[in-house]
Amino acid sequence: MPVTVVGSIAFDAVKTPFGEREKMLGGAAVHFALAASFFDEVRVVGPVGDDFGEEQLDVLRRRGVDVSDVEHVAGGETFFWSGVYGWDLNSRDTLETRLGVFEQFEPKLSEQARESDVLFLANIRPDIQRAVREQCTGARWAALDSMNLWIDIERDSLVQTIASVDCLILNDAELKQLTGKPNFVRAAREVLSWGPPGPSAIIAKQGEYGAALITAEGYFSLPAFPLEDVVDPTGAGDTFAGGVVGYLAAHAGQAPDEEMLRRAMAYGTALASFNVEEFGTERVERLTGEEISARVAELERLTHFSDSPVSLRG
Ligand code: AMP
Repeated sequence: MPVTVVGSIAFDAVKTPFGEREKMLGGAAVHFALAASFFDEVRVVGPVGDDFGEEQLDVLRRRGVDVSDVEHVAGGETFFWSGVYGWDLNSRDTLETRLGVFEQFEPKLSEQARESDVLFLANIRPDIQRAVREQCTGARWAALDSMNLWIDIERDSLVQTIASVDCLILNDAELKQLTGKPNFVRAAREVLSWGPPGPSAIIAKQGEYGAALITAEGYFSLPAFPLEDVVDPTGAGDTFAGGVVGYLAAHAGQAPDEEMLRRAMAYGTALASFNVEEFGTERVERLTGEEISARVAELERLTHFSDSPVSLRG
């Protein structure tokens, strides 16, 4: 069933220990859409400026993404973000964020986008996410991602928006920041207690350590795919979310339960592992379905163990 995504559509300037790019296609909605496009139809909602052209739209179109809800704002500048990574890629500093055309953006979704079955509110100002959530009245399942900037400057609006989704996908450090709890499991349980309405599933992203799923019924954790060469982690979280949400969208008619969410996380993890192998969208642009399936199968093998009884002393 179709997926609608709203979130940043951007140009990124990124420096990692392995190279740099001064202006590459990025944005949370772009990384998400490319990943989710392996599973289902995806519609991207958001504005771009004069600097955004057919070349960038074609990256999305080649993966079958519907860009008819991408609005060109004449005279405007596309969202711009620049960041620099530490030596082991575990730390990242934002150098600059320019909202550009997102500053004044008031989403007006097409009927098709509004009727999507599944909705993803990718990282962007929480009031924009909420405006889209309110228009997508038919969505049977919605998820949201955000980041420290919005917790810092628009926390109340973010909390209100979180109450309107079924699943919150956030970095573990951001979950702690959002709730003021020093432990991410406790932080996730705190968010679960805000509802209903509100999310019934929390996915805590843990960067190179993987991701954890926290629900009222349980807990599940998956490591990241063990890569030895990571070049640029930008967009890994959005690509992960695209895999998770895309997988759920492809299972139309089935309510996403704990088991399905676990399997969805495996697809998100596999997709994110490709994203980080090259800069920006470079690797995912030429990814194939066979490569994804092979990595999911490998992940299943790597994370499986079977207990055998042992007599324990004491
Ligand atoms: P990730 O590495 O998954 O956290 O996402 C990186 C992407 O998020 C980049 O492509 C940026 O363009 C985008 N981004 C960075 N800061 C923001 C922000 N404040 N709001 C929305 N998107 C952002």
